[in-house]
Amino acid sequence: MASRRDDTIAALATAPGVGAIAVVRLSGARARDVARALTGTEPTPRSAELRTFRSAAGATLDRGLVLFFPGPRSFTGEDVVELHCHGGRVVADGLLAAVHALGARPAEPGEFTLRAFLNDKLDLLQAEAIADLVASGSAQAARAAVRSLEGDFSAAVAALQRGLTKLRVRVEAWLDFPDEELPFDEASQCEAELDALVAELEALAARARSGRALRDGLSVAIAGAPNVGKSSLLNRLAGYDAAIVTDIPGTTRDPLREHLTLDGLPVTIVDTAGLRDTDEPVEREGVRRARLEVARADRLLWVADVRERLADALAAARAAQPREGALTLVANKVDLDPQAPRAAAEQGTPVVYVSALTGEGIGALVAHLKEAAGLAGETEGTFSARRRHLVALARARAELSAAGPQLGSGALELAAEHLRNGQAALSELTGELTSDDLLGEIFSTFCIGK
Ligand code: GDP
Repeated sequence: MASRRDDTIAALATAPGVGAIAVVRLSGARARDVARALTGTEPTPRSAELRTFRSAAGATLDRGLVLFFPGPRSFTGEDVVELHCHGGRVVADGLLAAVHALGARPAEPGEFTLRAFLNDKLDLLQAEAIADLVASGSAQAARAAVRSLEGDFSAAVAALQRGLTKLRVRVEAWLDFPDEELPFDEASQCEAELDALVAELEALAARARSGRALRDGLSVAIAGAPNVGKSSLLNRLAGYDAAIVTDIPGTTRDPLREHLTLDGLPVTIVDTAGLRDTDEPVEREGVRRARLEVARADRLLWVADVRERLADALAAARAAQPREGALTLVANKVDLDPQAPRAAAEQGTPVVYVSALTGEGIGALVAHLKEAAGLAGETEGTFSARRRHLVALARARAELSAAGPQLGSGALELAAEHLRNGQAALSELTGELTSDDLLGEIFSTFCIGK
């Protein structure tokens, strides 16, 4: 991509389809020339001008607005031109074709934002936030993306970086005197600084986990014996009749997928066929698919009838989802057993008591799912985050933790290396130290025109 970074690029910036207006955006050294050729006049910086757009052959394409943002004070840092034409595929496509004919090549996905990143207009966290903002599925997720875009996440990482740099300077200063012991005062001061940094990093990781939950949500599989109320539970969560509720065992043969937002948490719920051994071929296929879905999901809600023995239900649930921390037992039909307890954990597995029929306990189940996703409490103050960020933060955390004992035992070389690695992990977040491959991967998921 490197040699293509000098090209002038153009793409439709608005959604394809019919609308009042469409915006064709250009970025690069030739953007101004293209605008001039298209309108016959020199575009004025930072003002909106009504112009007639003409193709190279002189055909009138449309009449619309030209906006010219000379670099470096533009979104990409390069010369940027926006052409606002009438919405509708034919007009916008015609204008785009004319722009391409004048020498601007079609932009690749995310290429405008990539250029903004490469020209230091925003860091990688902010660039990703743009994609997250556009793709956000809930108001909470959108607010979190705006917070990242405004630099909340970046500022927190920068503060950590500053603290870490200070500590590294201290430690590395002593490396120049290999024969000297680190004075006790100095050592305990360094350890105290390191502890403070670890605490700060953990707090940031917790916020990032919330942010990731808002963005990516939780995938949940619902499974259990036939007739315990799995479909009813899904319908109750979805708030409408999405699945067939029936008394005949084994009717739900295909996993049924629902995308819901439960109190701000995006959730993909899969209702599976009853997990039971059967000779009936179609049902057996359903069971096979169900097991796959359960293995893939972040969490299994194992539904059991509250009147069943809890230990039996738990054993069946564990057999279906042996993964640690990925299981919740839902004891359903509490309306039929008013004596049943209402909230508990059994041998480390959370148990939530509900009635899919009356709705009792559903609020507690939603709160439990939010907690399981890492979306604890308030979503205000959360910024959007991705898996990649959590991985980098965890790596930084591991490096810093490893540096502690080394500092304590006076192995300064090793401590310094862990601190350096920790800092490198943080730098990956903002993109200071990010490989071209990773950049390619991140920006290729953007839409064209972004
Ligand atoms: P599935 O086979 O596990 O999907 O179970 P269904 O959702 O089809 O429900 C089986 C039967 O149990 C239906 O008659 C439901 O109306 C009933 N049922 C489901 N949940 C409850 C509940 O919380 N209380 C009561 N009393 N009946 C329920």
